[in-house]
Amino acid sequence: MSKIFITGGAGFIGSHLSDFLLARGDEVSILDDLSTGDYRNISHLEGNPRFRCFIDDLRNEALVETLIREADHVYHLAASVGVRLVIERPTECLINNIFGTEIVLKFACRYRRPALITSTSEVYGKSNKGTFEESDDSIMGPTCKSRWGYAASKAIDEFLALAYHEEKALPTVIVRLFNTVGPRQTGRYGMVIPNFVRQALRGEPLTVFGDGGQTRCFAHVSDVVPALVGLLEHPDARGKVFNVGSQEEVSIRDLAERVIALTGSSSTIRLIPYDQAYSEGFEDMLRRIPDLSRARSLIGYQPKRSLEDILKDVTAEMRAKSGL
Ligand code: UDP
Repeated sequence: MSKIFITGGAGFIGSHLSDFLLARGDEVSILDDLSTGDYRNISHLEGNPRFRCFIDDLRNEALVETLIREADHVYHLAASVGVRLVIERPTECLINNIFGTEIVLKFACRYRRPALITSTSEVYGKSNKGTFEESDDSIMGPTCKSRWGYAASKAIDEFLALAYHEEKALPTVIVRLFNTVGPRQTGRYGMVIPNFVRQALRGEPLTVFGDGGQTRCFAHVSDVVPALVGLLEHPDARGKVFNVGSQEEVSIRDLAERVIALTGSSSTIRLIPYDQAYSEGFEDMLRRIPDLSRARSLIGYQPKRSLEDILKDVTAEMRAKSGL
């Protein structure tokens, strides 16, 4: 049994990670300010004697220090997530992402605690390579386009984690997540699958941004969570970056059609220009596929759930919650 500390533990991925670790017998403490997390994601854990929840901010350094000192392993998931948020609230997003990680790494280093830092496929930027290996270049757009601030803030987090590993021998692992989805993900911050499913269940038009020809690979959170644990616990993962995601590629237009078919909805598809969906001059990534060789060869990572499984799980959860 290990003692685990998770920042952002009431978020979509953090709450599934808490469930996974508690199910195998660990003690889990989480910290979440409920800015984008949701208490309902973890309310079922109330009363579990191996679970502690602190609703507070990472800037409460004394608390973060205590929770890290008490833990064996640290998972840092707290962040302002997603491109839409950085466009709408850039100052908050940049500060949260950079200073939050700095605080976690500082105390992880003080107490020599292995720490996993979650990053994002956004750090590859607007490279049109398609399939990305961890050592590929990041190609960012200009600073006047705020969407790149999200990628830049996560790239700084990566540099910091690698610097702590290099200079201070802190065991850090970086995971670049590619479109993790599944039950509990909210559509509030623009994520496509919960939005499409909600729109389909309500019979509203599905809002496809651009021409819908852009593709993504969606990974089920139940495949992603064990990979996070496997990587942090593997001694050879330290000081390295890993892509984690799925290689099943789908265009956003096909995704919309599949959601309509699966839900039996009468919804139509509405194309919305990027300028209207996000901001003037918005640049989207056309293709983004993870090369998974590194995680596969180290921990045997292989996603088991298909896009079909994902859509069924998300639809079932949304139906049960909304009664639609
Ligand atoms: N998207 C869309 N309609 C929506 C939300 C998103 O067409 O209501 C598109 C978005 O422009 C992107 C893709 O779906 O091309 C995935 O978006 P998401 O925000 O889920 O993740 P991203 O890959 O942008 O991080």
